[in-house]
Amino acid sequence: MVKCMDLTGKVAVVTGGSRGIGRSICLRLAAAGALVVINYVSRSDAADETAALVTEAGGTAAVYKFDVADTAEVQSAFKQIVADHGRVDILVNNAGITRDGLLVMMKEAAWDAVLDTNLKGSFNCIKAASRPMMKQRFGRIVSITSVIGFAGNAGQVNYSAAKAGLVGLTRSTAKELASRGITVNGVAPGYIDTDMTKELSDDVKDIILSEIPMKAMGNVDDIAAAVAFLVSDDASYITGQFIHVNGGMYMG
Ligand code: NDP
Repeated sequence: MVKCMDLTGKVAVVTGGSRGIGRSICLRLAAAGALVVINYVSRSDAADETAALVTEAGGTAAVYKFDVADTAEVQSAFKQIVADHGRVDILVNNAGITRDGLLVMMKEAAWDAVLDTNLKGSFNCIKAASRPMMKQRFGRIVSITSVIGFAGNAGQVNYSAAKAGLVGLTRSTAKELASRGITVNGVAPGYIDTDMTKELSDDVKDIILSEIPMKAMGNVDDIAAAVAFLVSDDASYITGQFIHVNGGMYMG
């Protein structure tokens, strides 16, 4: 009998694994047998809590602090991860931030922060992870983009540009690494209930809900399930693709 979703022996790095969607991805991949590397940048309490949840559920986790936007930090973190755990099989580029504002009002710092974390951060991690993956001739890379990267959104030019950039980064990397046994895909969430969306006013939430055919925000586990599929053997012939998880809000 074929055993589905078995990640035993695999090492999975989840950036921004401390909270929200990243935490759910860590729990899901650990439940399938992977050793999960939980990355965070500032909230060590949250990262430790994710690690404790993984351990309580019978999984294995390790916590690493690094800023995905910092090229040198990322390079040395991945070297350390390979030294500590022997390999990197799965990379989930999940770390992300928002600094919203209308284009005419947007400060350069808000543009740079979002592009550096959400786009350059993914480039940094993909580059660092692809070396051990190429040696292994196996790898699974999944980046968390957004409905906003496909549809655009007033007040989020920086976020939208970064997430759309992640689409191009994913497709081009998929073409470069396909012959090495490495798949590169993305998951594009709609509106998911996390710290990132908690700040939205009730008025804005009502407008968003009116645009979602399913009339509900998504759950972190909806995204984790799509990621788990893309890193599994069931998805081994899928590369350069995006799964939209958005309640029908955008049909790409
Ligand atoms: P949260 O704000 O809940 O969590 C963000 C995570 O990213 C935290 O773990 C945070 O670490 C980490 N992080 C932020 N900056 C860095 C950095 N420079 N280096 C390393 N880690 C960093 O976000 P969500 O869970 O909501 O979002 C996760 C991903 O999903 C993001 O890429 C987001 O853009 C995307 N997304 C979210 C949607 C939503 O509706 N929530 C919709 C579409 C896409 P720390 O805890 O240390 O601060």
